[in-house]
Amino acid sequence: MASTIEHWIGGSTTAGRSNRRAPVYNPATGAQQAEVLLAEPADVDAAVSAARAALPGWADTSLSKRTKIMFEFRQVLNQNIKELAEMISDEHGKVLSDAAGEVQRGLEVVEFACGIPHLLKGEYSDQASTGVDVFSFRQPLGVVAGITPFNFPAMVPMWMYPVALACGNTFVLKPSERDPSAANYVARLLAEAGLPEGVFNVVHGDKVAVDALLDHPDIAAVSFVGSTPIARYIHDRASVSGKRVQALGGAKNHAIVLPDADMDFASDHLSAAAFGSAGERCMAISAAVVVGEAAEPLMDALVPKAKAVRVGAGRDPQSEMGPVVTAAARERIVGLINSGEEQGAKLAVDGRGLTVPGYENGFFVGPTVIDEVRPTMDVYTEEIFGPVLSVLRADDVKSAIELINANPYGNGTAIFTNSGEAARTFMRGVNVGMIGINVPIPVPMAYYSFGGWKNSLFGDKHVHGPEGVSFYTRGKVVTSRWPHVTATSNASLQFPTAT
Ligand code: NAD
Repeated sequence: MASTIEHWIGGSTTAGRSNRRAPVYNPATGAQQAEVLLAEPADVDAAVSAARAALPGWADTSLSKRTKIMFEFRQVLNQNIKELAEMISDEHGKVLSDAAGEVQRGLEVVEFACGIPHLLKGEYSDQASTGVDVFSFRQPLGVVAGITPFNFPAMVPMWMYPVALACGNTFVLKPSERDPSAANYVARLLAEAGLPEGVFNVVHGDKVAVDALLDHPDIAAVSFVGSTPIARYIHDRASVSGKRVQALGGAKNHAIVLPDADMDFASDHLSAAAFGSAGERCMAISAAVVVGEAAEPLMDALVPKAKAVRVGAGRDPQSEMGPVVTAAARERIVGLINSGEEQGAKLAVDGRGLTVPGYENGFFVGPTVIDEVRPTMDVYTEEIFGPVLSVLRADDVKSAIELINANPYGNGTAIFTNSGEAARTFMRGVNVGMIGINVPIPVPMAYYSFGGWKNSLFGDKHVHGPEGVSFYTRGKVVTSRWPHVTATSNASLQFPTAT
C-alpha cells in the first residue's frame, strides 16, 4: 500500500478536500513508492487563509526574533541533511552526494537570510531640508507563493522561502508533484526551529493548485521556477491579477572551448557539468561549442570520460549518475537522441538502451555525446533536460558568442580558455545572466542573485541575494519634520523645495 503525502497547512498535515492523487515513483527501481494529494482550490484557499491569519503576528515579529528562528532552522537543517538527501534521491533519482550538495547550496541561502537585520537596513538623510529629515525602510509584501520544479526539490524552494520569511512574509509553497516529500520535511524542520503555525504552508498539486494560487486575491507575489512555457504563463496570469512575479524558465547552457584551454581540465568539467544529476539541472551544460582547432583534442579527451561515468541507483555510493525522473522523461530524451541521429548528427557516445543490473525497470539513460550538431537540429532547439551533450563547431570566439546570443535562452554559460582577453570579450558579449570562466556551472553564491536573461526569466528580479530581498519587500520613504525644530512654519502653496 503506497503511503499518501498530504498538504501542510497551519502547522500540521491535512488531506483537506483533495480526492485526486498522483503517483510518486522511485526512478531507480521504476516502482511507485507513494502517492501525493492534488489540491483543489478549496485546499489552496485554506493554505492562503492560514498564511493570512499568521501574517500580522509574523510581520510584526522583531528582526531579532526572526533572525534567531533562521539560525535555529540552519541548525536543524544541518543536522538533517542526510535524511533529506535520501528522500530526494529516492524520489528524484539523483545520487546521494549530489542530493546533499543541493541541500548545502540551499542552506547557504538560509545563512544569507540569517543576516536579514543588515539586509533590511534603510537609509537616512539628516537635514535634507532645514529641519527636515528623509529616511527609507522596507516592509514585507504579505502572503507570497512559491511554485517549484522537480529537479531541485530542496534547493529551489530554499532560493525563495528563507528570504521571504526573514523579510516578514508568510509563505505557501506548491512543490513539484513528482518529488513532493522534501517540502513537508522542511515544513516540519521550520516548525521545530520555532516558526509559528501558518507562516509556512505546503499545498501539493498540479495546474488546478497553481491556477488557484495565481488568481487568489490574498497572494501578493509569486516566485516560480520551471520550464519556459509554464514560466511565461505564470508571469502573464499572475501579473494580470496584480501580483509581483519572478518566473525563472528553462535553459540551453553553452560552454565554449578555445584551442588554448587545458583539454584535460575542460573535458573533465564538461563531462561533470553535462552528466551530473543526469543533466537535469537548469545550469547543466547541454551544448559544447568547440572553437577552431579545439575540436579534435576536446573530443579525444571527452569521449572516454563520458563512457566512464558510473551510472546506477542514487542510493548506491558507487554511482556518479542516477536515472532520470520518470519513464516519460526517459522516452522524451531517447526520442530526441533518435532525432539527432536522423537529422545527421554523429553519436560519439550513445546512452540509449542502457540497463543497470538489479535495476532493470529503472528510468536510466546513459551519458550521450552528439557531435556535429547544427543549430537547426531538434537536439539543439529543444531543452533536452537529460544526460545529453551536443557538440557544435565555431570558427572563432566572435561566432561562438553570436551562436549563444541567437539562442532564445540565457540562463548560464561558460568559457574554457587560458586567455584573459578572450574571457573578457566573452563575458561582456554574451546575453546571459550567469557566466563561468573555467567554471562550467556558475551558480552564484547565495549573497549574489540567481537568474537568467531572455526566455530563462520573466519578471525583473532574480532570486535570493539582494534582488531576493528587494522582491519580497516594498520600500517606503518618509519625509519628516518636527515643527518645534524650526522657528517659523515656512508654509507655502508653492510645490515644496529644499531650503
Ligand atoms: P515544469 O514547468 O513542468 O513544472 C514546474 C512547476 O509548474 C511544477 O510545480 C508543476 O506542478 C507546475 N506546472 C506544470 N505544468 C503546469 C501547468 N500547465 N500549469 C500550471 N502549473 C504547471 O518544470 P519541471 O519539469 O518540474 O522542471 C524542469 C524545468 O525547470 C526545466 O525546464 C528547467 O530548465 C527548469 N528549471 C529552471 C531553473 C532556473 O533557475 N531557471 C531552475 C530549475 C529548473
